[in-house]
Amino acid sequence: MSEEKVTCIIVGAGVAGSAAAITLAKAGIEVLVLERGEVPGCKNLFGGVLYTTILDKLVPDWMESAPLERYVTRKRFSIMGKDGEIALDFKTKRYESHPKRNFSFTVLRAKFDAWLAEQAEKAGAQVFPGMMVSELIIKNNRVVGVKTEPGGDELYADVVISAEGVHSYLTLQAGLRKSEFDPDHMVTAAKEVIQLDENVLADRFQLEGNEGVAFAYFGDGLFGMFGAGFIYTNKNTLSIGTGVTIGEMIRNKKNPNEILEHFKNHPAIRPYIRGGETIEYSAHMIPEYGYNHLPKLYMDGFLVTGDAAGLVNSSHHQEGTNLAMASGVFAAETVIEAVKRNDFTSNTLKLYLEKLENSFVLKDLKKYRHMTSFFNENPHFLRDYPDLMMELFGDYFELSEKPKEEIEKEIYKKLKRRIPLWTMATDAWKVKKALF
Ligand SMILES: Cc1cc2nc3c(=O)[nH]c(=O)nc-3n(C[C@H](O)[C@H](O)[C@H](O)COP(=O)(O)OP(=O)(O)OC[C@H]3O[C@@H](n4cnc5c(N)ncnc54)[C@H](O)[C@@H]3O)c2cc1C
Repeated sequence: MSEEKVTCIIVGAGVAGSAAAITLAKAGIEVLVLERGEVPGCKNLFGGVLYTTILDKLVPDWMESAPLERYVTRKRFSIMGKDGEIALDFKTKRYESHPKRNFSFTVLRAKFDAWLAEQAEKAGAQVFPGMMVSELIIKNNRVVGVKTEPGGDELYADVVISAEGVHSYLTLQAGLRKSEFDPDHMVTAAKEVIQLDENVLADRFQLEGNEGVAFAYFGDGLFGMFGAGFIYTNKNTLSIGTGVTIGEMIRNKKNPNEILEHFKNHPAIRPYIRGGETIEYSAHMIPEYGYNHLPKLYMDGFLVTGDAAGLVNSSHHQEGTNLAMASGVFAAETVIEAVKRNDFTSNTLKLYLEKLENSFVLKDLKKYRHMTSFFNENPHFLRDYPDLMMELFGDYFELSEKPKEEIEKEIYKKLKRRIPLWTMATDAWKVKKALF
């Protein structure tokens, strides 16, 4: 393939890359997708819930053919103390009648990404697995192609789309992001897939038919560090994992495996996984740059999408797949416009940023732009408050012959002693600013 030139090369067949490829191929544009994994998806993992609003536009019959596990009907946010949890639990039958099941499905990425890459091929894209892009070819500050391994071939294109995921070496080579990742804006997650009998799983999580759950955990299950734990139900497996910022792990001298083991052994988690068999173990990073620390997303001949661009909504919504797919589509639409204008310079490619800014992608990241720094600057929220809340709830529900009014007064006094009113008010204001 040496010295070949195509219109567009996409690096990576994750959800961003395949979404871009489908959009370009449908528009009749020549597109190559280069994927380092032997099969698309084999290197990819997430929690997780795939959010499918974008997919719905790309592959309208996706519900019939995509390898979906369960649709999410129950969401739970839990604050863990040392010996238990306090949770907000939302369960609904409402999405049973939603034609697309609220666009929220658990999937296993090894299967789903392979299927999505197949859809790109069906649309007319050429997908080359087992081919790693080792570097960009840059001439006069313009990206004009890529070098690949194995073989050291040079492939040329009018425009290259980076959909290479979190490590984003090409974005670094292009000088669009800083050389060092900020440890307080980069999460390392560890995950297990645990097999359970399908009936046991359904009973344990109160599931009927193809219903599924998405549980998120904060506080003691992660040693009180900034991050989250998760449980998602698949057909006959659970996806369970923890993700904590690298900065927190360094400060607290913990490693991802230790955190996951601690989480799995927490009394709020243990009963869910009892009797299950771990059939998969993996680790992956999550870029939590946030709106204020995004890299530059385009230059002459080059666009950056998905995790490579840090487009992850790491608030309690925990969305990445939909932002990645949307950015892939916006990058492809920008390339389509560049083909029309026959201009692949920043003059046209800057449209990509406009599309992101006018969509939920950057609007949501902007809304939560203070979140990561808030938790980094206020570690007591996840370290001290959960145990205090557990203690107060414990006092409230502990049976005695004391009149209830007396109990409530004692609890209120204890709370004021532990957190002065002024601190409580400023903390509440900070939470509002970071999350709502
Ligand atoms: C533990 C965890 C839990 C998560 N939970 C959720 C969730 O529940 N819901 C959600 O929406 N999001 C979740 N996310 C985030 C979500 O997974 C990502 O935002 C999303 O996968 C980004 O897609 P992408 O296509 O940009 O990158 P990726 O999916 O990482 O794909 C990148 C692709 O590029 C390939 N590649 C990399 N470098 C090269 C190269 N040099 N040459 C060729 N190919 C290359 C890789 O092999 C890979 O196939 C989670 C992430 C993690 C790690």
